Amino acid sequence: MTDCGCDKAKEELEEFLHNELSAEQCSDIREHLANCDDCSAEHLVGITLTTKVKEACQEKAPDELRDLILGSIERLDAR
Ligand SMILES: [Zn+2]
Repeated sequence: MTDCGCDKAKEELEEFLHNELSAEQCSDIREHLANCDDCSAEHLVGITLTTKVKEACQEKAPDELRDLILGSIERLDAR
């Protein structure tokens, strides 16, 4: 078993989350996460945050943007 170590795993965790690593790097990180509770916990937090941000962007941004645009149109009409 070759373990890439916590430092490298944590360094590359964010890129791993965004699928920016090569297949070889991914398998290194996956192998480390499978054997390291500390890093796999951190990875789980990262996944949760990334998912939440994506959900927030998809669900809230259009409504907020619409309100913003409607608000500015109303302000123009009120002049
Ligand atoms: Zn670790």
